[in-house]
Amino acid sequence: MDVRNRQLAKPAGPTVLKAKKLVDVESDRNPKVSDVLPMPLYLTNVTFFTLFFSVVYFLLTRWREKIRTSTPLHVLTFSEISALFALLASFIYLLGFFGIDFVQSLILRPSADVWAADDDEMVEILKDDSRKVPCGAALDCSIPPPKVVDQVPVTVSVSIPVPAFEMTEEDEEIVKSVVAGATPSYSLESKLGDCRRAAAIRREALQRTTGKSLAGLPLEGFDYDSILGQCCEMPVGYVQIPVGIAGPLLLDGREYSVPMATTEGCLVASTNRGCKAIHLSGGAGSVLMRDGMTRAPVVRFSTARRAAELKFFLEDTANFETLAMVFNRSSRFARLQSIKCAVAGKNLYMRFCCSTGDAMGMNMISKGVQNVLDFLQNDFPDMDVLGISGNFCSDKKPAAVNWIEGRGKSVVCEATIKGDVVRKVLKTNVEALVELNMLKNLTGSAMAGALGGFNAHASNIVSAVYIATGQDPAQNVESSHCITMMEPVNDGKDLHISVTMPSIEVGTVGGGTQLASQAACLNLLGVKGANREEPGSNSRMLATIVSGAVLAGELSLMSALAAGQLVKSHMKYNRSSKDVSAVASS
Ligand code: ADP
Repeated sequence: MDVRNRQLAKPAGPTVLKAKKLVDVESDRNPKVSDVLPMPLYLTNVTFFTLFFSVVYFLLTRWREKIRTSTPLHVLTFSEISALFALLASFIYLLGFFGIDFVQSLILRPSADVWAADDDEMVEILKDDSRKVPCGAALDCSIPPPKVVDQVPVTVSVSIPVPAFEMTEEDEEIVKSVVAGATPSYSLESKLGDCRRAAAIRREALQRTTGKSLAGLPLEGFDYDSILGQCCEMPVGYVQIPVGIAGPLLLDGREYSVPMATTEGCLVASTNRGCKAIHLSGGAGSVLMRDGMTRAPVVRFSTARRAAELKFFLEDTANFETLAMVFNRSSRFARLQSIKCAVAGKNLYMRFCCSTGDAMGMNMISKGVQNVLDFLQNDFPDMDVLGISGNFCSDKKPAAVNWIEGRGKSVVCEATIKGDVVRKVLKTNVEALVELNMLKNLTGSAMAGALGGFNAHASNIVSAVYIATGQDPAQNVESSHCITMMEPVNDGKDLHISVTMPSIEVGTVGGGTQLASQAACLNLLGVKGANREEPGSNSRMLATIVSGAVLAGELSLMSALAAGQLVKSHMKYNRSSKDVSAVASS
């Protein structure tokens, strides 16, 4: 078994978590003397041990000899001087190897594991912890889960390499034809009428043409019919991403177990710690301030005057009703809210905004916009439609228009974290957090010229929840726009934290949300599919959950950073006897 395999074979658990956390958070770990030696560790240790005890023996013998011959002790021979140097060197090495870790373990113990609360310290606070149920059982049962009628069975992903696809002679002929280029790879589904078989044949052809094995990429265990014409073309398998659960997140009086699909170690653990701090402090509250997807086509005229004329026409409230009627024909869920225009010379950008029910809404709004463009051709026949999307929307690109005007759901989420919880769960203090937030998330981001990036790592949580729940991960760009604010409240004892996220683009129908695994994650949150009683409320609730999870993530990472700073200050100024929290806030 090689070294890599041995590492992989190690059981995952707190040890692994802690090791990774230390690399991330404390990347400047203390090097040991042995790190710089070229010999294997055990040989180095044996050498220094032998050296140490030999010189001790030698020096003691010489000492006895000097006493016997009445030679003064300070008169040293060359061999005695060498022995003293060897003693000192081996002592330093042994202290560096065995001693420093012990000393550090005493000094660093309070923040040795930034993600977990100290058990002793937590005893008292846990008395108030009402989250004694496991995550899965923590959902509010008073709200019935959506009926699982024709739900596709949840995919069980396989983690071992899939055995080679057993092909019939006919399959073999098709593979050869694809390899030779006689049969286009993209046409396999329509030709065979069997999506799984098409994927298997395409995969085999790909392996042969590239000469590369796809052994680690599973083929079986996935419903290829479910993605046809919707989610992915020319499939050859699927990538497995582990889903972890953070929570329960106590938000607006309900508990949510938040699924996060990620391969970033510590992310779920950290968010979970944030959820714990929120829960112990009485929960978070969210407000959805706005809900409207946008699409902005670009059209051109022969003069800037004509472009401006269309702008005035579209923004004239007298015309809104007609335009809305035309727009809303696209879907029973699409409802036009506004049209904002921007002129660039002869070109006009019209930013349509509409509600889209439980769908994220890009398809829906595009259809509505197309209806309006067709309608406008009657009064503006000289209008040249250059593109249904002119980037003033703005989709999947960082843009001030989304940050300022919002796109999708605009949500603000807040919580007041008790000072005790900040100290015992987050292992820092209110003052340090507020100061770090001001210098990092506000000033630091301003210095960097950030656009919506006034946060610590909102995109980490947004991406993980998006992937788990079948959202478009590319929309993480603007969905992660977030400003994190922190203030001391209640005479500085407690912490008020908020995240304001103007562009959360989520849906619970359409796109990847109907796939089995993603639908299961939405089901866990109680927001799967369309809400029949109140269309749009599932996607709105999902947006608030995203903001709540981001709040938890911000709280935890900022605390880890603040605590790391404490340790550094502590080490730098050698104030081992002082309260570390006092060092950081000074
Ligand atoms: P998107 O616009 O996000 O790409 P789609 O247009 O692909 O999503 O999917 C939305 C589809 O789901 C539409 O055909 C719409 O009629 C249907 N639908 C059913 N119930 C709802 C609902 N509550 N909200 C929004 N769309 C719904």
